[in-house]
Amino acid sequence: MSDNLDFHDILAKKDDLIATAKRCFDLRLQTNAGGNLSVCLASREAIVIKPSGVGYNECTRENLQIVLLDGTVLPSELPLKPSKDLEFHLEIYRRRDDIDAIVHCHSPWATGYASAGLEVPCLTVQTVEKIGRMPLIPLNDDLGPQSAEMIGPYFDDPNIRAAVMANHGTIGTGKTLLAAQYLVEIIEETAHIAFVRDAMVAAHGLQAPPMPRFGTLKDQEAALAGG
Ligand SMILES: [Zn+2]
Repeated sequence: MSDNLDFHDILAKKDDLIATAKRCFDLRLQTNAGGNLSVCLASREAIVIKPSGVGYNECTRENLQIVLLDGTVLPSELPLKPSKDLEFHLEIYRRRDDIDAIVHCHSPWATGYASAGLEVPCLTVQTVEKIGRMPLIPLNDDLGPQSAEMIGPYFDDPNIRAAVMANHGTIGTGKTLLAAQYLVEIIEETAHIAFVRDAMVAAHGLQAPPMPRFGTLKDQEAALAGG
C-alpha cells in the first residue's frame, strides 16, 4: 500500500532521476519539456516519474510524481499530472520484472533515422554487445503516436532492451537509470554514425561494407567454437 512506501528509497530514486534528466539535457538528448524517464522503487510497488510539462532540466524533488504500478497517481503538492508516456512505462514494467528504469528521449539522429522508416542498425561492435537489436516501432494505423499496447509487446522478448519509435523518440531500459541512460546515448551515437556511414557510402558510390557479427572477441570465439 502507498502508506508503506519507503520514504528513503523515494528520495534516493528522485535524486537519481534528477541527475539522469540533467545529463540527458546537457547532452542535448532531450530539450524542451518532451521525453520522459522513470524508475521503480526497490519494492516495485510504484515508480517515480517526471510530470507532463516539466523539462528534463527542471526536475526537482517537489515536482516528480509517484505512481503505483496499477496506474494510481499518488497525490502531490503541485498541480501536475504524469506525462502521457506514463502508460507505456507502466506497460513495460508490468511485462518485464528485470527492468527497473526507463529513459525516453526525442533525440534527433535516432528519431530521424526511424522516421525515415529505417531501424537503427547495430553498426558498432559496442551496439552489438550492449543492445543486439533496437526495433523500430511505427506510428499507429491512423498515423498517431505509438500506444502502450503497441509498445509493450516489443519488450516481451527478453533480449530487447531498447527501441526507437518513428516520429517520436528512443526508449532505453535497464536495472538502473544510468544503465537505461547509457542505452539512450548509444542509440543516438549509433544513429549518428549510421547517418555518416550511409552518406559516405552513397557519396563515394561504394557497396555498403559488412556489419559486425560479434560485439567482443570473446563472443566471437565462443560462437565459432560452438559452430
Ligand atoms: Zn515522447
